[in-house]
Amino acid sequence: MNCYDCHQQGTITPAVASCRNCGVGLCPDHVKVTAQEIHRHEGMGLATLKQPARRLTCFTCHDAEHQL
Ligand SMILES: [Zn+2]
Ligand SMILES: [Zn+2]
Repeated sequence: MNCYDCHQQGTITPAVASCRNCGVGLCPDHVKVTAQEIHRHEGMGLATLKQPARRLTCFTCHDAEHQL
């Protein structure tokens, strides 16, 4: 698989990851890595685990999720 964003710009770059949301292939320059907090129900409350999960998305999906 090759990077979709590079493909749109007319270059071919091997993908190292894929977007968690839309599934396109992404090169290191076009992948957006964010930490995602994991919440777990414990007893009556909601606990946030110390170790966040990793979330890989393309810039398009990242921007779409953080607009407002
Ligand atoms: Zn790329
Ligand atoms: Zn995406």
